[in-house]
Amino acid sequence: MFWFRKKNIGIDLGTANTNVFVEGKGIVLGEPSVVAKDKQTDEVVAVGENAQKMIGRTPGSIVAIRPMKDGVIADFDTTAAMMEYFIVKSVGKRASKPNVVVCVPGGGTEVEKRAIIDATRMAGAKDAFLIEEPFAAAIGAGLPVNEPTGSMVVDIGGGTTDVATISLGGIVSSRTIKMAGDQMDQSIIHFIRSKYNLLIGERTAEAIKIELGSASIEASRALDNMDIRGRDLLTGLPKTISIPAEDVSEAIKEVIDGIIVAVKATLEDTSPEISADVIDRGIVLTGGGALLKNISDVIAEETEVPVFVASSPLDCVAIGTGEALNHLDLYKKRSR
Ligand code: ADP
Ligand code: MG
Repeated sequence: MFWFRKKNIGIDLGTANTNVFVEGKGIVLGEPSVVAKDKQTDEVVAVGENAQKMIGRTPGSIVAIRPMKDGVIADFDTTAAMMEYFIVKSVGKRASKPNVVVCVPGGGTEVEKRAIIDATRMAGAKDAFLIEEPFAAAIGAGLPVNEPTGSMVVDIGGGTTDVATISLGGIVSSRTIKMAGDQMDQSIIHFIRSKYNLLIGERTAEAIKIELGSASIEASRALDNMDIRGRDLLTGLPKTISIPAEDVSEAIKEVIDGIIVAVKATLEDTSPEISADVIDRGIVLTGGGALLKNISDVIAEETEVPVFVASSPLDCVAIGTGEALNHLDLYKKRSR
């Protein structure tokens, strides 16, 4: 009976977050790509949201792992276990296995792509299909990817930033750089340590970036200070200090500059026709990094091209994988 037809799934397997799209329902799950494991037994203790809470707070025998690093699988078994957990949480345990479209960051090698297909099958997929992340992001952002017009998408995630121009259903030119949200967090940790002798953790650094971070040093001067807590490196004791937003902008400047260089280089790689289309239609930003304050203004100023932030930038890739579920035959050909 038709209402028993199994639902297929699209997965945005990100370095920071995994989002699951279920056919006919939309995005049903979005959780951090984190797994907590018992070091002694190698057993999975928690996945996603629950595991995230354990980062930096685990007792000796438990480690919180982010199995996707820099956009590729760093730990195969843990990635498969994490995907299985998310699939079961999204559609339940079922007799018939779903087909799964999963996105891979642009620039991955054949071996890395193979590993993602294998991990997806191991996680319970009947068949696994790959879609390139910037392509999925562009579909999810509503860009006319199949038309003979050039679009440009910049997906700023946790581990990588993917820049791509797209036309007629394919990627025309692209760059993947390992400069994105995680690197901003690391830069904030270094900056605070060297300027204030204060040690902060990754989660605190991320919270500072989200609350206070701006891509523009100039714009950051109008923002309020923020109280942050960490460990004083001189006394070893906990300490609270107040930092200006300008510190955060200065700390992340290197990463912002890296993203701008990649955008410019990708624009230079395209034909004059596609460049002209991008100038007309603008660049679209997706991924969590698109939510950084003033990021669109700064990229627009540097490239002299209009820049827009997609609506729900964190959801674009998952929506794109969901759209791809309607054209599985197309992706089957591509992923083999
Ligand atoms: P991935 O696809 O690699 O999993 P996401 O697209 O989910 O990455 O984006 C996650 C990144 O976006 C993280 O580094 C997170 O800190 C960052 N992020 C989320 N919200 C904001 C915000 N409001 N401002 C700046 N960065 C943000
Ligand atoms: Mg992503």
